[in-house]
Amino acid sequence: MASEGQNRFREWINEGAGRWVTIVVCLVVLAGAVAGSVHLLRTHKNRGVQSVKNAGRRVEVFCRSCRKGGTTRVAFYADEVTWPVECPLCKQQQAYPGIRCRNCGNITERPANRDVFPCTHCGAVIDLRGPSGGPTPPKL
Ligand SMILES: [Zn+2]
Ligand SMILES: [Zn+2]
Repeated sequence: MASEGQNRFREWINEGAGRWVTIVVCLVVLAGAVAGSVHLLRTHKNRGVQSVKNAGRRVEVFCRSCRKGGTTRVAFYADEVTWPVECPLCKQQQAYPGIRCRNCGNITERPANRDVFPCTHCGAVIDLRGPSGGPTPPKL
């Protein structure tokens, strides 16, 4: 059996002011939930972009000091990178933009302003112009 207090509460909910209070409370809770999830999504998105930017991007480099190729991380935006960067192997600031040779698989230095050059390891010609004069890859 329901107590006197519960009965009164049900009456209050089902008629007059109680009904409106219930609706308003529901709406406020709903709006709060929506705003909360949107906020969460936004911060999550921004955090993702920020961490990608902070981590930078992975590039292939060729070191003039130890004459070896490797991969390292540089700033996300090309205009924020000052070449040469630190070599991931010998830690000398002698690492220049590199590219992996399709013939021998080694990383060779990629000369600035040149899209066709020989691999320093096997001598195979590396052509960055792409097939049938397609778009050139972005400048480093
Ligand atoms: Zn090195
Ligand atoms: Zn090669």
